[in-house]
Amino acid sequence: MKPFYIDYPQEKIEEHQHAYRCMYCKIPTTVIFGLLENHAEDCTYRKQQSKWVQLEAKLKPHNEHFDEPHADEVD
Ligand SMILES: [Zn+2]
Repeated sequence: MKPFYIDYPQEKIEEHQHAYRCMYCKIPTTVIFGLLENHAEDCTYRKQQSKWVQLEAKLKPHNEHFDEPHADEVD
């Protein structure tokens, strides 16, 4: 699992000179801040990444006692 999600497609926000946003959900990068759960719930990128996270979780040996800070966001 990646600590930060910054490889989503970005586009420039016309009204702001140095501001960018996610191409899919149009949320500014300053709001997303590298966190998957800050994308819109129906964001294409978020959906894609969530699939990989679930896949990785299946492949890895599961640690029951590990406190996942964002586990409540998954479902
Ligand atoms: Zn997005």
